[in-house]
Amino acid sequence: MPGEELAGLVLARVCEDLAARRQRAGEEGAPLPGGGPGVLDAHLAPLLVFFEKQADKALDLVESGAVKKVVGEGSGRAAFQVEGHGETYVVFPDHFCSCMSFYFDVVTKKEAHMCKHLLATRLAEATARCTTVVVPDTHLAEILMEL
Ligand SMILES: [Zn+2]
Repeated sequence: MPGEELAGLVLARVCEDLAARRQRAGEEGAPLPGGGPGVLDAHLAPLLVFFEKQADKALDLVESGAVKKVVGEGSGRAAFQVEGHGETYVVFPDHFCSCMSFYFDVVTKKEAHMCKHLLATRLAEATARCTTVVVPDTHLAEILMEL
């Protein structure tokens, strides 16, 4: 899809910037960005251009704490889960979400760069706004087997 590479670059840049700010703030002992309103808003403009419909919804998901990182205790392997509309979707931030929108709009029709869950996961990770849950590896395997 035209613009896909650019969209990926913009998102990567935004995430890097958010992570760098977090690190700086941590070193200075200042409140972490992500803790106050407006930090994500400043990044909304470039995101809106590339992710139109998804950006607002993705930010809502991040703000509401819908993104969860599930880490396997022994292996350290991780998957993300995003809650939305009574469903839980499994997300691999680089390339996959288990929702229908990802399947239809991204994979099949190629009309979107990524779904709101994937975008939310990338942003939540960059701003450390995902809840991390450590589970036995067998539990993580069960989550993945449901895909
Ligand atoms: Zn999705």
